[in-house]
Amino acid sequence: MNRTLIFNWKTAGILAVILLAIAGLIKYLPKILSAQSSAAAQIESEPYTENRMQMVEETIISRGVKDRQVIAAMQSVPRHMFVPDQYLDQAYADHPLPIGYGQTISQPFIVATMTELLDLIKGERVLEIGTGSGYQAAVLAELGGIEIYTIEIVPELAQQAAERLAGLDYDEIHTRQGDGYYGWKEFAPYDAIIVTAAPDHLPLPLVQQLKEGGRLVIPIGPQGGYQTLWLFIKQGKEVVAYNKGGVLFVPLVSGEGSD
Ligand code: SAH
Repeated sequence: MNRTLIFNWKTAGILAVILLAIAGLIKYLPKILSAQSSAAAQIESEPYTENRMQMVEETIISRGVKDRQVIAAMQSVPRHMFVPDQYLDQAYADHPLPIGYGQTISQPFIVATMTELLDLIKGERVLEIGTGSGYQAAVLAELGGIEIYTIEIVPELAQQAAERLAGLDYDEIHTRQGDGYYGWKEFAPYDAIIVTAAPDHLPLPLVQQLKEGGRLVIPIGPQGGYQTLWLFIKQGKEVVAYNKGGVLFVPLVSGEGSD
């Protein structure tokens, strides 16, 4: 009789524990589920991460870009936010895309290559001619600790890029609308200058606005044809030139008028 009673108490105890566990599970189930769904939502909100990593691996690292900071910068900048909506599906393909006004956002491999050639270190100041979408400027900003000045000649593109870069909190990028052939005297000299539109000769004002030891990366060639990508390094009164191969850029429209 007694034994039966003890047995019953035990059973009741076990049952109570099981019931409590079920109650706890019911209480916290919504929280567990919502934690899972918010993690899923986060992944969904950046559906391009995988495409971007793949693009960097297959078209940038595998083709010889070695600078780890440049690679990290290319992995960070959301290129899909710099291309027009109708080209979103090609945002991480390795080719240029139209951005309106007859202009293009450059091919990622070329952006990475030119950035690597600039050989920037923290604390340096760089000038970009041809802001376009603002993508190249954003890649420079992701290097960290670099002060960036960028000029765009098409007023609408200059305005759009300024808004886009501000919206993405790239506070270290200073934008301006104007003719970049003449550089940006106010903040010269620069440790490096990058030109992302092609003139048919080397613009003298850019050489003048380069610091001693400064690097200038620029495509030069005839309008409507292929150009040569040059790295110039200012050494005393001389500018040493290194040929970095054939490229295709939109022309630098300018050379007339003044700053
Ligand atoms: N760096 C850009 C690609 C630019 S395409 C990007 O990352 O998206 C070249 C840009 O240079 C075009 O937007 C074009 O309007 C601009 N450009 C052409 N001539 C210029 C000049 N003289 N001064 C400033 N920008 C110029």
